[in-house]
Amino acid sequence: MPDIINLLPDSVANQIAAGEVIQRPASAVKELLENAIDAGATDIKLIIKDAGRTLIQVIDNGSGMSETDARMSFERHATSKITKADDLFNIHTKGFRGEALASIAAIAQVELKTRKADKEIGTLIEIEGSEVKQQQPCSCPVGTSFSIKNLFFNVPARRNFLKSDTVEFRHIMEEWERVAIPHPEISFSIHHNNNLVLKLDAGNLKQRIVSLFYQNFNERLVPIEQTTNIVKLTGFICKPEYAKKTRGEQYFFVNNRFIKSAYLHHAIQSAYSELISKDSYASYFILMEVDPRIIDINIHPTKTEIKFEDEKAVYSILRSTVKLSLGKYNVSPTIDFEQESAFNTTPLPAGQHYVKPPTITVNPNFNPFDSDKKQSYQPKEVTPSVLSNKNNWAALYENMRKETEEPLQQKLSVEQPITNNETQLNKEERYVFQLHKKYIVSPVKSGLMIINQQGAHERILYEEYLSALHHHSGASQQSLFPQTLELSSSDFDLYTELQEEVKALGFDISLLGKQALAIQGIPASLANQDGAVLLESLLEEYKHNLMELKLQKHQQVALALARKAAIKNGQTLEPIEMNNIIDALFACEMPNTSPIGKKIVGILNVSDIEKIVE
Ligand code: ADP
Ligand code: MG
Repeated sequence: MPDIINLLPDSVANQIAAGEVIQRPASAVKELLENAIDAGATDIKLIIKDAGRTLIQVIDNGSGMSETDARMSFERHATSKITKADDLFNIHTKGFRGEALASIAAIAQVELKTRKADKEIGTLIEIEGSEVKQQQPCSCPVGTSFSIKNLFFNVPARRNFLKSDTVEFRHIMEEWERVAIPHPEISFSIHHNNNLVLKLDAGNLKQRIVSLFYQNFNERLVPIEQTTNIVKLTGFICKPEYAKKTRGEQYFFVNNRFIKSAYLHHAIQSAYSELISKDSYASYFILMEVDPRIIDINIHPTKTEIKFEDEKAVYSILRSTVKLSLGKYNVSPTIDFEQESAFNTTPLPAGQHYVKPPTITVNPNFNPFDSDKKQSYQPKEVTPSVLSNKNNWAALYENMRKETEEPLQQKLSVEQPITNNETQLNKEERYVFQLHKKYIVSPVKSGLMIINQQGAHERILYEEYLSALHHHSGASQQSLFPQTLELSSSDFDLYTELQEEVKALGFDISLLGKQALAIQGIPASLANQDGAVLLESLLEEYKHNLMELKLQKHQQVALALARKAAIKNGQTLEPIEMNNIIDALFACEMPNTSPIGKKIVGILNVSDIEKIVE
C-alpha cells in the first residue's frame, strides 16, 4: 500500500489556523489592535466598512517594520515577541504566537504599508489568500497600516455564518472597548462607513470609562485599590444599586489583557452577595497586575482565558478588596472621590432644591369599559419603577395606601358584567382576595379561580403595547424637563435598532450627541415613572429576553416594556386593582398564559376541594 500522509501546504495550514483565531471580523480587529499596541503606538485608528465585511483598517503610529520584517510578519510562527519556550512564561506583549497575520492573510486580501522612523521610504505589500501579489517601496507615514479587505472571500462557509451588520459591528465595538479600556494612555478612534463613531483621547482610566460608558461616573462607580505580593488591583466597581439584570459590563484585565473568568466573576458577585439580588450582575472594570511567571496565557487560541498559579489566592484577594471598597462606600459615599459636576441630572426648576418623590393617582371610580381605555386603566399607574430603590418603594406604597382608602363599597361598584364564561358574575357580586401577595383568588361557578398577578398584568400590558406598536398609537406624556440619558456604545446601538418601536410606544426621544439621548416624553400610561430608568430597563430587559426567547423585534420590545411596567408578585393589591386586572385579562386574546408562556390562570374545582375537605 502506498504511503498516504502529506504535509499540508502552508496556505491550507494557515486557513485551518485561521478557523481558530479569526472567527468573525471582530477577531481580526482584536489582533490588529493588539499588534499596534505591541508596536508602541500612541494613536490607533480603526476604520470599518460594512461591519468589517469589506474593510477593516488599523492605522498606528508605532515602530513600523523593516522591509524584511514586513514580508516575514505574514509567515506562520513568525513573531518578534518570543524566541524560546521559556519566554512563554515571561510575556509582556499581547501577541506571541505569531499566527494572527498568517491566518488573516490566508482568508482575506491584505494591504500592508509600513515605515520605520529612521527610514525615508516604507514598504507596501499586497497579499491575497496567502499569496504575495505585490511588494514594493512606498511613501507612507511612520508606523503601520493594515487593510483587511473582503474577509473570508475564499471561505464561503464562514462568510455565510456571519450575523447581521448590527450584530457584527457590536462585536467589533466590544473588542475595541476591551482593548481601549486598559490603555487609556493611547488615543483611539473608530469610524464605520465613513462616520466617526467614537474618539477616545488619551487620559486616565476614569476618563476612558466616562467616554465609553458613564458620564455620571461618580454616581455609579467606586474605586478599588490593593497591593499584595501576588497581585496589584486597581480599577472601579459599580455601586450595588446599579447592578444589572444582564451581563455586559464585567471587565477583568490581567496585565492589560481582557480575560474571561467565571471563577473570578464569582469572587466579585459573592462580595456583593447581600447587596444585590441573586439574578443581577455587578458591573466592574478591574485591572490586575501580576508577575507574568505566575500565569499561563497560552491555553486558548484567542488568549481570553488564562491560568493562574494560585487562583484561590487571587479569588480571595479580589473578594476582600471588593468588599472593602463596598464597605467604605457605604460609610461615606463620596470617599476617595473628587467631586465632579454631574452631567446627567435633570435641571430643577428655579427655587426648587429637592426632587419631589413620585406620586400616584388611583381612580376609585375606574370603569374598565370606558371608551378611553388608556386613561382609565389604573393598576399600571401604581407600578413602582425602580425596584432597587427602597425609598421610592416605601413612598409609593404609602401614597397608594392614602389615596386608595375609600370605602370598599365604592371601589367595587362597577355596573358591567364581565365576559369570561367561567366568571359570569357582575363585578359588585364578585368576591376577590389576594393570597400570598401573589395570587388573585376569586370564587367562580366551578370552584376557585386563581390568577398569578404579575403574569396577568404582563399579559395585559403586552397586548396593549403590541396594539400600540401595530397602530403607532402609543400616547405620549410630555415631560416639563427633558431628561438626558447616556448609554454605553453597545446600548446606544441597540437603541438605534429599536428606536422606531420605542417611539411608537409613546416615548418621545431625540439624539443629543454620540451616545446621549434627550427624553422629552414617555408613554402616557407610565407618566409617573422615571423616563431614563424606564428606557434603560427596557433595553436591559430586551437584551435579557433576546437570549432566551425567539420573538420578533416588535414583540420583544412590547414584552420588554410590559415586563418592566407590570406590577410584581409580592405587591399588595387593592380589591379594585384585582378586579381591574381580572376584567382586562379576560379582554385579552390569550388570557391563560403570560407573554413568556407561563400558565397564569387556573381553577381549583369543587371536586378538587372535596378531595381535601369533605
Ligand atoms: P504576534 O503578534 O503573535 O507576534 P502576529 O502574526 O500578530 O504575531 O504578528 C507578527 C509580527 O509582525 C509581530 O511579532 C510583529 O513583529 C509584527 N507586527 C505585526 N503588526 C505590527 C504593527 N502594527 N507594527 C509593527 N510590527 C507589527
Ligand atoms: Mg499579534
